[in-house]
Amino acid sequence: MMLRVKKRTPTGKVFIHLKKRKPRIARCAICKKPLHAVPRKTPSETRKLPKTKRRPERAYGGYLCSNCLKELLREGIRKRFG
Ligand SMILES: [Zn+2]
Repeated sequence: MMLRVKKRTPTGKVFIHLKKRKPRIARCAICKKPLHAVPRKTPSETRKLPKTKRRPERAYGGYLCSNCLKELLREGIRKRFG
């Protein structure tokens, strides 16, 4: 969807400009905090980036934040070894 923005030119006339809406910031699936290193771009713009610039290169990168992933991994280890 395009956003309608009223712009006044130096001559005083008001024109309507169409502006692209930015997508929402990527957030962690558990704690809902904003994720770092995930660009705020539309899917078509994201596809043009190299894969390494789309999300952090770790397990669950771009889906979970580092703290939540750490907790999950600790829980998994506790379940296995008590
Ligand atoms: Zn989190």
